[in-house]
Amino acid sequence: MTTPPVSAPSFRAPKGTYDLLPPQSAEHLAVREALAAPVRRAGYGYAETPGFEQVELFARGVGESTDIVTKEMYTLTTKGGDRLALRPEGTASVLRAALEAGLHKAGNLPVKLWYSGSYYRYERPQKGRYRHFAQVGAEAIGAEDPALDAELIILAVDGYRSLGLTGFRLLLNSLGDRECRPAYRAVLQDFLRGLDLDDETRKRIEINPLRVLDDKRDQVRARLGGAPLMRDHLCEACRDYHDEVRELLGAAGVPFEDDPRLVRGLDYYTRTTFEFVHDGLGAQSAIGGGGRYDGLSEMIGGPALPSVGWALGVDRTVLALRAEGVAPKVPPATEVYAVPLGGQARRTLFSLVTELRRAGVAADFAYGGRGLKNAMKSANRSGARFALVAGERDLAEGVVQLKDLHSGEQTAVPLSAAGEEVRARFGSSS
Ligand code: AMP
Repeated sequence: MTTPPVSAPSFRAPKGTYDLLPPQSAEHLAVREALAAPVRRAGYGYAETPGFEQVELFARGVGESTDIVTKEMYTLTTKGGDRLALRPEGTASVLRAALEAGLHKAGNLPVKLWYSGSYYRYERPQKGRYRHFAQVGAEAIGAEDPALDAELIILAVDGYRSLGLTGFRLLLNSLGDRECRPAYRAVLQDFLRGLDLDDETRKRIEINPLRVLDDKRDQVRARLGGAPLMRDHLCEACRDYHDEVRELLGAAGVPFEDDPRLVRGLDYYTRTTFEFVHDGLGAQSAIGGGGRYDGLSEMIGGPALPSVGWALGVDRTVLALRAEGVAPKVPPATEVYAVPLGGQARRTLFSLVTELRRAGVAADFAYGGRGLKNAMKSANRSGARFALVAGERDLAEGVVQLKDLHSGEQTAVPLSAAGEEVRARFGSSS
């Protein structure tokens, strides 16, 4: 009797997630690098925090009434009894880390940090909305200066533009501060209480009425026509601050649209609030966003540290580039592909490949002892510009064949000069 073969389980990436694999993964990497490059040139230092934090940090930092905290957090209780959440966003973690390390006490404010990584939200998956996604973020902690708000917005725009992205718009608003927002909040609550709204929204009116303005449902939006707007209730300091941000953006050639209803889904914003939207993406059009969060530090147990920051979505920026038909510049994975014929050639070309890599040339090698035809196929598939081919006879003559895979032209190059020759050709061909 034979036992039936046990079929191997077939696993798939969890719902709402996808894998990044070559060649598309190179696009994501290029987008991350391009979005981070401007902040790195502007004095922002790299920060990396754990993928999970205490639930309470997000509950307090992001807001108890937000969708992110009430519906979208992945939470778990450890064997030791700690309640943790996979991070749904970066700001609260980065601020927690800066406070814990006392970076704000070094006397050099603002503390400027950038970061990049994975974030997790239990959302209903659709195109552009995933349960695992990537962001590049930047935070400037501990200074209140409209130039800092403008700086961050300009740096985000520079990042998008450096990728060749053009079809995005910047929406800008001010949410006021602790001087003027409470009075506005009361006026807004009065207005909203008079509307015919569902129970959940009515609850929200009492906890965070500003977020009702941010409701995306048509039946709610239709009722908000005459809602009072923050911009008509800003105190003088907030108005002056906002005017200066707008002026600095104008001077930097950064167009924006005033959007008096822009609130965003997180509770901690004050004054400057902004979002980048791309019209080629359908419903999930936000490719990045951020703002000033002057009260967050105190909410999570720190001193008063007025701060501003943003997070740009890597996945959606990739989708936006595709929608525009723009391919980010991706460095070639392989520039030179070595094809040895025979044991001696294997050792010689392997050394040559090592030498080229050490000199900064992206080089690969035909492993597995395949025949010339198969190896040349791999060379072509690798995207390499040149193949280095050598057999016993070439080695006896002290040469390798350098084949230009674009033109097909092949030349014998002295072995001792092969590394230099390849490097010189890249100098002239790139
Ligand atoms: P937020 O923290 O919600 O302001 O998100 C900042 C940016 O991250 C957004 O503008 C999106 O580009 C991106 N983002 C947020 N949530 C998701 C998601 N579920 N899937 C993909 N990208 C997201």
